[in-house]
Amino acid sequence: MAYDKIIVPDTGEKISFTDGKMNVPDNPILLFIEGDGIGYDIMTASKRIWDAAVKKAYSGKREISWMEVYSGEKAAGLYDGDYMPEETFEAFREFYVGIKGPLTTPVGGGFRSLNVTLRKVLDLYSCIRPVRWFKGVPSPLREPQDVDVVIFRENTEDIYAGIEFEAGTPENEKFAKFLREEMGATGFFEGAGLGVKPISPFGSKRLIRAAIEYAIERGRSSVTLVHKGNIQKFTEGAFQRWGYELAKEEFPEQTISWEEVAEKHDGKVPEGKILIQDTIADIMFQKMLLRPREHDVIATTNLNGDYLSDALAAEVGGVGIAPGANIGDEIALFEATHGTAPKYTNKDMVNPGSLLFSGVMMLEHLGWFEAADLITKAYEMTIDQKFVTYDFARQMDDATKVATSEFATKIIENMDNV
Ligand code: NAD
Repeated sequence: MAYDKIIVPDTGEKISFTDGKMNVPDNPILLFIEGDGIGYDIMTASKRIWDAAVKKAYSGKREISWMEVYSGEKAAGLYDGDYMPEETFEAFREFYVGIKGPLTTPVGGGFRSLNVTLRKVLDLYSCIRPVRWFKGVPSPLREPQDVDVVIFRENTEDIYAGIEFEAGTPENEKFAKFLREEMGATGFFEGAGLGVKPISPFGSKRLIRAAIEYAIERGRSSVTLVHKGNIQKFTEGAFQRWGYELAKEEFPEQTISWEEVAEKHDGKVPEGKILIQDTIADIMFQKMLLRPREHDVIATTNLNGDYLSDALAAEVGGVGIAPGANIGDEIALFEATHGTAPKYTNKDMVNPGSLLFSGVMMLEHLGWFEAADLITKAYEMTIDQKFVTYDFARQMDDATKVATSEFATKIIENMDNV
């Protein structure tokens, strides 16, 4: 389609789908949203690293053609104050895969988070956050190497659905009256703000399906359903039940439930099977501190996932390094998980790790594992040599503090040594 401000590169081909399967050309067009605040610094540095890794891993046979699309402040400047131009959505519908830096959410009434809007409009229902430790990265844990999980957080339902009624409004009063008089619900005080938590079989199952498929494709050993079903029986409890049902109906050959393991296999998971287990959300935080090895892929509802992903990221180095992706049936948007850190804008100081590893996830999504591995190894080597940005430098002994751009150059140089 014809775009107004977006320039489609002359070189490169579109990613396409046949029967739900993604076809990736050797020279795909990938989208990027630079992001506000520190976005320019981390995107510039990371693109240099991704491009260098692809070039080296495939001896020049593969190459990314980058296409810039706009959201946030840069969009507002270009599109007459529009922070979220329609043609950005159109570009994702046409080209499918892209990556974004952080975006400012102006505080104040009526302005919806751009990140939430992107996820909603493009129906990116799985929020995926891999959490693993890299040697040398400062961590508060004694054995951070034991943490290696991938969180699938449901992105569209739960209390994030936006069905809320403010105390004192006619809508709230009407809803409260309906709950008391017609539904017999009496367990709330006069004047309470009210919210609704929808959890559907459709929303739950597509998320859990994505988590199980990921576990199968990547040779992972278990999928843990994290829920608060002991209290919220018909929402969180149903999520858990639908998860076990789905595994049994759609993946009977590849998966086995913990119940079956206990009853028929003497507590030992048979070779080649992925264990489907579940845990109550509150205890999961403790387990991930005390026995992180017992968990691998995690599938959970929206609010649990929100808390859990930031808490687990803190175990292995914090938001400066935690990567993320929002993925739907076809469209995939990879993103830095931290914000715009406005006080560091254009200072060439911050850690590009979160965006960089979101790009590593993107390369893996394309099936370009060699380039992804090259970056991971060169990154580990750079951290091991103690060349780090300010945030890590202040937590490490004898570290050399380098700029974002210098850090990128070191990683690229180290690609020759891995
Ligand atoms: P923030 O993540 O921008 O910053 C929190 C702290 O983390 C900062 O003090 C900064 O020192 C540190 N930090 C963040 N990224 C870092 C990096 N790459 N390297 C080193 N240190 C880093 O969160 P905030 O200050 O609460 O939010 C600022 C703005 O970002 C707000 O407008 C908010 O809406 C937006 N935001 C966007 C996203 C997103 O786009 N996904 C996420 C969170 C916040």
